[in-house]
Amino acid sequence: RAKQDGRGGFRFFEPSLDEAARRRRQIETDLRVAIRTGQLQLNFQPIVASDGGSIRGFEALLRWPHPERGFIPPVEFIPVAEETGLIVQLGEWVLHEACRIAAGWPENIRVAVNVSPLQFRSAGFSDVVLQALARSGLSPDRLEIEITESVFLDGETGVLQILHLLRRMGVRVALDDFGTGYSSLSYLRSFPFDKIKIDRSFVTNIAEDSTAAAIVKAIVDLATALSMETTAEGVEDRSQHAKLQAQGCSTLQGYLFSRPLDIAAVTRMLSENTKACAA
Ligand code: C2E
Ligand code: MG
Ligand code: MG
Ligand code: MG
Repeated sequence: RAKQDGRGGFRFFEPSLDEAARRRRQIETDLRVAIRTGQLQLNFQPIVASDGGSIRGFEALLRWPHPERGFIPPVEFIPVAEETGLIVQLGEWVLHEACRIAAGWPENIRVAVNVSPLQFRSAGFSDVVLQALARSGLSPDRLEIEITESVFLDGETGVLQILHLLRRMGVRVALDDFGTGYSSLSYLRSFPFDKIKIDRSFVTNIAEDSTAAAIVKAIVDLATALSMETTAEGVEDRSQHAKLQAQGCSTLQGYLFSRPLDIAAVTRMLSENTKACAA
């Protein structure tokens, strides 16, 4: 936590830098063990149609139940995994696991997988995707890769080649956390994403704050004009849902519909869904 020191600068108190560095090293050590011993799990959060609420897909989200320290959130261990390069190995496991599980779902249900910049740019990434599809038998158009614009920070050329390769394979690509970066718009010109995910920070105040609402409206209109689908992240209440639906946002994701679920709960939800559709 930072406190103003009275001269316009900032001084850092708790946790001290030493302590933060120690915690990071501990996470790195434990994460290696976690990967080796299979401690990591995937949860899945539904993405639903804004009109009618039918399930369109699920986003795979990593969960780490640490044997001594309880759940460690992704915001804590993903950055460590990126800095140490462990994300490449971890991300490969996520892709295989997500495709394997999604292959057992009804054919109209997609799976979205987050891929970090280092993993995306790593040699052989597209081969890993091909392998995950081949081994699971999942149809490529049921896999959606989510990247953030930070993937472009070290140069666009190589990244665009991989994006086009994924496209030729029939895999979908979504631009995640849209609006939080420095130049999100320019990336829309570089590549025809299948979907834009509108960041939760714009969704939170959409019902009360006309500025937030205007920004979301502009993003949805832009996406529609570019034939891109939209998903609003972090939808927590009915007033946000109503507003997003009125603005033409096609799909929604958030605690209002469901928290991320373990595999057993997903299976239950899908079988209830199938029964409801048959009835
Ligand atoms: P993200 O891809 O933007 O994922 C959405 C995050 O929002 C998830 O946090 C989800 O649990 C949370 N969320 C969903 N609905 C709501 C809501 O209504 N309210 C609030 N307050 N939050 C909501 P989570 O699971 O903690 O993941 C955080 C981030 O960690 C993800 O952001 C993603 O960037 C990263 N991450 C998670 N799993 C993976 C993975 O397998 N690979 C990579 N590279 N990154 C991952
Ligand atoms: Mg995501
Ligand atoms: Mg996101
Ligand atoms: Mg986000």
